[in-house]
Amino acid sequence: MTDTLADSRTSSRMFTEGVPLVVEDVPRRPAAERAAVLEDPGFGRHFTDSMVVARYRTGEGWVDARLTAYAPLQLDPSAATLHYAQSIFEGLKAYAQPDGSVATFRPQSNAARFVRSAKRLAMPPVPEDAFLTAADALVDADRDWVPTGPDQTLYLRPYQLAVEPFLGVRPAHEYLFIVIASPAGAYFPRGVHPVSVYLSEDYIRAAPGGTGDVKCAGNYAASLLAQEQAVAAGCDQVVWLDAMEKKYVEEMGGMNLFFVLGEGADAELVTPELTGTLLPGITRESLITVARELGHTVTERRFSVEEWRAGVADGTVTETFACGTAAVITPVGTVKARTGDFAVGDGQPGPLTMQLRQHLLDIQHGRVPDTHGWLHRVAPAA
Ligand SMILES: *Cc1c(COP(=O)(O)O)cnc(C)c1O
Repeated sequence: MTDTLADSRTSSRMFTEGVPLVVEDVPRRPAAERAAVLEDPGFGRHFTDSMVVARYRTGEGWVDARLTAYAPLQLDPSAATLHYAQSIFEGLKAYAQPDGSVATFRPQSNAARFVRSAKRLAMPPVPEDAFLTAADALVDADRDWVPTGPDQTLYLRPYQLAVEPFLGVRPAHEYLFIVIASPAGAYFPRGVHPVSVYLSEDYIRAAPGGTGDVKCAGNYAASLLAQEQAVAAGCDQVVWLDAMEKKYVEEMGGMNLFFVLGEGADAELVTPELTGTLLPGITRESLITVARELGHTVTERRFSVEEWRAGVADGTVTETFACGTAAVITPVGTVKARTGDFAVGDGQPGPLTMQLRQHLLDIQHGRVPDTHGWLHRVAPAA
């Protein structure tokens, strides 16, 4: 009889076959405290009451999946990830919908990419359904933390790390899969402003055969110095070039890039093709779809710094923007390079940049019909 409550809790969601996602009774922070955080959440500073944690052991598979109180982890100092960076992550958002429900945006794509990242780092993948179950369970449990202010969201951070205590260099035999959530404010609370970028000619982000096309922690560690260099040069962001020729534009920081050629209804979009050294962004893919539906030609191809510079000079390249889950779309205004600086447009965000930005935000926040089935409603626990 005493097990009834626990049984009813554990039976509502399965993590993997035979492994329930156990939902613990998590202490809630007082409503007033939560409201104070949601007033001005910023980005990545505040975390919700709960987290999902599951463990993997070679021979046992995924075990002990639970929704539990957000709390520090206990790791052995020899845990493999601390030494060899066997660690991957994802980023997606939950959006308060006008009807009071909560939806995540294309989480299946994040789940699929998480599997690809795991395989590249020789980690056991989290099954896509388990990933979705974990994200849903966390959003459902911490529904009160989904902010409802303009363009506010709940950012979800799923990640997986090797925790086996062992200093030998080989894939670990023990992992944690964790999902945490952080309320996020509007990325541009005081209006959208173009960023300045610095072309990284000393450092590269990704080389053919490397890990540039997956979301592994090490990629970000290796990018920090170039980003510091960009800031030292008075710029907001670093732009990465291809490793082989340092001629083609690849990405901006942790975001994909688009170039607008021409103007008005005939404007064409170019985005660097996925050569294996770019991260295939879900925002990128969504914008390709949306822009085509609006009647624009979108081409995925290589795009050189020289084409960018010459296009800006002769007026063919009218706008440039970067895109990713965190900021959705960020306009690029000025470019700093050893080979000479240049400016895109007149210092204001371009019209197509702003139209696409608004359109994607409207879909995500449920203000226009979701004709692609991109929104995933988070169902309340059964
Ligand atoms: C995550 C990421 C992106 C953007 O991907 P989204 O799925 O759109 O958020 C772009 N570039 C890099 C390097 C990234 O890590």
